[in-house]
Amino acid sequence: MDKNAIEFIGEHHISSNSQTPLRKDAFDKSDDEKIKNIQQHFAKIMEELGLDITDDSLSGTPYRVAKMYVKELFYGLNPIARPTISTFSNKYNYKKILVEQDIEINSSCEHHFLPIVGKAHIGYIPKERVIGLSKINRLVDYYAHRPQVQERLCTQILEDLQNTLNTQDVIVVITAKHLCVSSRGIKDKESFTTSIEYGGVFQNQNERNEFFTILKCPDI
Ligand SMILES: [Zn+2]
Repeated sequence: MDKNAIEFIGEHHISSNSQTPLRKDAFDKSDDEKIKNIQQHFAKIMEELGLDITDDSLSGTPYRVAKMYVKELFYGLNPIARPTISTFSNKYNYKKILVEQDIEINSSCEHHFLPIVGKAHIGYIPKERVIGLSKINRLVDYYAHRPQVQERLCTQILEDLQNTLNTQDVIVVITAKHLCVSSRGIKDKESFTTSIEYGGVFQNQNERNEFFTILKCPDI
């Protein structure tokens, strides 16, 4: 790909697919092997930048970055890391909207490997099954911890919840700041990005409005 196309995709944050583009051999290597290899590659990047990595302050950086990538920032690449989400029968027969809001988003832009920081707000209308509320937060955390595009993050959370809850009646809104917009390029510190995905009854404006009214509820 030529350099203009590379810049274009980055500036416009274009994603090609709702699935994270993974190699077939993505998980053939162990985490320890990956950390060892990334450590070596990152040391080379630092050297190319002219840094003396024998300095006490820098010598541990390649290992720290490698471990942070594999075990923390991008742990959600590996499907094994998906939280186990048990569902429970909807004993109360609760059939109205349920909203979990202000769920923290700590993700990374896949075009620049810089942080995406924000909040997710999720609503669903239970059918036969419900899930523990904290499990929604864990699911968001899992999909956020990959190199991401905000729209894809929204879609991945929506589709997983729809499958898990066995209903299309789910809505996901994410508002987030992208450091690749605030700290480089246009350097806009104030703007933020909102993405929204929904299915089922949330295709009706009334249901969407109810969800947005709850998000704005002054008593919370
Ligand atoms: Zn970016």
